[in-house]
Amino acid sequence: MQKGTINVQTENIFPIIKKFLYSDNEIFLRELVSNAVDATSKLQALVSMGKTDSKLGDLTIEVKLDTKKKQLIISDKGIGMTAEEVEKYINSIAFSGASDFLEKHKGVDAANLIGHFGLGFYSAFMVADSVEILTKSHQKDAPAVRWKCDGSTEFTLKEDKKEERGTDIILHISEDAKEFLDEHKILNILKKYGKFLPVPIRFGNEKKWEKPEGEEKEVEIEVPRIINNTSPLWKKTPSELKSEDYEDFYRELYPYTFEQPLFNIHINVDYPFNLTGILYFPKAKQRIDIQKNKIQLYSNQVFITDNLEGVVPEFLMLLHGVIDSPDIPLNVSRSYLQSDHNVKKISAHISKKVADKLEEMFKNNREDFESKWDDIKTFIQYGILSDEKFYDRAKKFMLLKNTDNRYFTIEEYEKHIESLQKDKNGTLVYLYTSNKEEQFAPLAAAKEKGYDVLDLDGILDMHFINYLEQKLEKSSFSRIDADVIDKLIQKEDSMPSRFSEEEQNKLKDLFEKSINKDVFTLTLENMQETDLPIYITKPEFLRRWSDMQKMTGEMGMFGMDMEKANMSVNANHPLISKLLNEKDEARAENLSKQLIDLAMLSQQMLKGEALSNFIKRSIDIMK
Ligand code: ADP
Repeated sequence: MQKGTINVQTENIFPIIKKFLYSDNEIFLRELVSNAVDATSKLQALVSMGKTDSKLGDLTIEVKLDTKKKQLIISDKGIGMTAEEVEKYINSIAFSGASDFLEKHKGVDAANLIGHFGLGFYSAFMVADSVEILTKSHQKDAPAVRWKCDGSTEFTLKEDKKEERGTDIILHISEDAKEFLDEHKILNILKKYGKFLPVPIRFGNEKKWEKPEGEEKEVEIEVPRIINNTSPLWKKTPSELKSEDYEDFYRELYPYTFEQPLFNIHINVDYPFNLTGILYFPKAKQRIDIQKNKIQLYSNQVFITDNLEGVVPEFLMLLHGVIDSPDIPLNVSRSYLQSDHNVKKISAHISKKVADKLEEMFKNNREDFESKWDDIKTFIQYGILSDEKFYDRAKKFMLLKNTDNRYFTIEEYEKHIESLQKDKNGTLVYLYTSNKEEQFAPLAAAKEKGYDVLDLDGILDMHFINYLEQKLEKSSFSRIDADVIDKLIQKEDSMPSRFSEEEQNKLKDLFEKSINKDVFTLTLENMQETDLPIYITKPEFLRRWSDMQKMTGEMGMFGMDMEKANMSVNANHPLISKLLNEKDEARAENLSKQLIDLAMLSQQMLKGEALSNFIKRSIDIMK
């Protein structure tokens, strides 16, 4: 029997492990089970290379609970360790200088330390007073050994009996961690971290209903409870999978979600790093609903976290699914993940893959892509607005929908409107409506003119057009009720008015008597005789400004009144000439009021007393 002291400045390590790691002490189980999986994979590798005489046999890892003895045992049938290996891997852990480090970085996130110093095994001391390792190497004739340590810096190591190859880690659970003697607790932790581990993990038994051969009735039988699916879908070859497989896997990931995703992206990258995963596109929602725990991150099938805030770009968090990469460090906290170089590269790569897949879908089956567009539009716009690189890729498949439900890429749309919608300065004017119902009249007027109108009623559309205006050269967006139709796209300088200065002033005076001049700016315009006599419009920039303030809830800056609007009087309308020639002042005023109210009515601006006055006046006129 050998006695010894664990190497290098470890005096302080155990209390520190206990103290620092306490908040997430459940990860000890993930560490020990991962070690068991690693030991099993190493054995599989040796066998496949013919470098051991050992036969694989059943490799199931077993987690056992002995509540009477207060023990939790993790047993694997992996490569095991010789006495020398225990010395090397367990006793002289690579944390020379660790206590210095801890001294300097007091308060540092504990989970980081485990990763940095290869303390995985030692995390067992967070929950155990003492830990034993009983292990037998795959090497022929190597005797089994038992290592024991009670959490001080002293250990014992001696030969012992063990029939099977592999390692048992025996934890003597401490009084203050006795919740880890609870079957449900252990089951939950195993399911959380080990659901997709590549080696079967057994934890006790479970009851199942089965029909024995030749029997009529189902009977309840006890079978080993295997907690994991050892070959999750994302590890399989995409070409061998059907869409049902993806749907089933979605249900496996989110058993409590009823809605089915729209489609998925199976990521399978070998270079420049290993990255696999499946990302699902959920159906569009009315609001942007970022659930920060819908993507699960794995490292070699070991669950790391489902809190990816700050780890992947925010727009990707609209997606669901799993990401797996051995290059994502295990044992680390989110703050560490956020700054990790590999994680950054992986995250950028995921956005590239997503863009590639969307482009491929667009190219291969445009019709199908268009049918999905309304559901994925918000996601894509979010990506474009928040990730410059994503915009560069999305340019090719980003679509604009017009009011006839036709879809265009930006390039196609530019060509589509080029001939009619360029103003006198050569600026291409994109016309849009945010509400076909409310903006019915100006929409009809624009279509009458042969103009094309975009349907932009999405939650991000307003931000999106601001963005596009900056990106596209000589382009501007104008809502169809931003001005009278002839001035929306100004083709030439305005014509001189057909009225004399005196007549113009007379008309202005007449109308201004009946309007609130703080709100309306009155102008006389040369329109068609068939156009309406008066239009009320809200200049594009003022409206955007006020929309933005409504969104941010801020008060008007620079004392600007955001409810301002333009009132354009159609100088060519017969009723306006009639008004000018009306001798009876009272009648003239009545008619001007009626015209103003009709214009207000069409903008849903006539309310309360004004509305009731309008109705009375209308009835009087009919008399
Ligand atoms: P890490 O796993 O990060 O290397 P650990 O402290 O968890 O750090 O383990 C240290 C070493 O001990 C492992 O690298 C491995 O060589 C050995 N080891 C731990 N658990 C087992 C096991 N169940 N079977 C065989 N070897 C093991």
